[in-house]
Amino acid sequence: MNGDFSEKLLLWYSQNKRPLPWRGTQNPYKIWISEVILQQTRVRQGVVYYEHFLEAFPDIFALAGASARQVYKLWQGLGYYNRADNLMKTAKIITGQYGGRFPEDYETLKTLPGIGDYTAAAIASMAFDKPCAVVDGNVYRVLSRIFALETPIHTSRGKKEFNLLARKLMGDSPPAGFNQALMEFGALQCLPDHPDCQTCIFHDQCLARASERQSDFPVKKKKNPAGRRFYYYFVIRFESRGETFFYLKKRSRRDIWRNLYTFPDIEMPFALENPMDILTMAEKNRFFGTVPFSAGKPSSLYKQQLTHLSVSAWFIPVFLHEPLNNETKNSLSLVQQNQLINFPVPRITARYLQDNKIIHVKEK
Ligand code: SF4
Repeated sequence: MNGDFSEKLLLWYSQNKRPLPWRGTQNPYKIWISEVILQQTRVRQGVVYYEHFLEAFPDIFALAGASARQVYKLWQGLGYYNRADNLMKTAKIITGQYGGRFPEDYETLKTLPGIGDYTAAAIASMAFDKPCAVVDGNVYRVLSRIFALETPIHTSRGKKEFNLLARKLMGDSPPAGFNQALMEFGALQCLPDHPDCQTCIFHDQCLARASERQSDFPVKKKKNPAGRRFYYYFVIRFESRGETFFYLKKRSRRDIWRNLYTFPDIEMPFALENPMDILTMAEKNRFFGTVPFSAGKPSSLYKQQLTHLSVSAWFIPVFLHEPLNNETKNSLSLVQQNQLINFPVPRITARYLQDNKIIHVKEK
């Protein structure tokens, strides 16, 4: 079925593919940026970020010379900020050690920060015509259904089996076209919940359709139940000479939202019955010390779902009559209200700032 498979697939692709801005390019920088953005992001949202990103950093040299703050700002809202960190590290390595040219070979690409099997295969095949199979969630779904493959996809055995099968089906077809076609087929035809089997080019070969077991594929290992985190944020406001200032804290620990800015917080292992009880905790003195303050009504509950984590947060407005003193302000930055927009913040914080008209965030 190999030749037949890729022939049918490529014909389908030529008639159905979406006109996406990274289609047709063989520029490894653009392919890399698009793949990294799309790793955890829907295509429609990804297109906007991709265009803004390339406008700001049109090539690897521009990205290598950018400040972390510029990059985070453009990344804001995409989440998974370690991707942005790795983009910067890799850009510096490619400009510093490879004269600005991407390595062409899959194994060398994989030595670069943030470039794993998937991204290395995408760059090697789409920019350099190397016969590497790119296996993303769409490809797992399509192949597992057509061939009724029961191997769980997030296991090393699963990765190996699906990769070998995709490579075999690719045969001598152009690697870039074949990979993109298979991913696009999963994204448009063989959808997770409603595969369009009636009009499918693989209708007669598909084993999952023949046994009406489309929804059993792909097989996944059971995940651990999502963890939960509870944050209480102090939105510390200080007025001086007619200007309003807020205190922000940079998250530098190896944890969620690393290198983003948030309001100073106390994290609790559970949700308090009354969010105001957080003000009775001695830990708040880390921020306030002996400086007098008054607190306003806490926000309602804000929630954000990360991959393995559900975050709950409450924001408590705090008004200072004098700035924090040296002892407490060390880890915090005092930021003028109209400058807040320039600081990369987690989505949950952006929502609070916007809901309370502290800043106006442009929709991306
Ligand atoms: S027949 Fe249905 S399940 Fe099988 S590949 Fe086509 S769309 Fe997917």
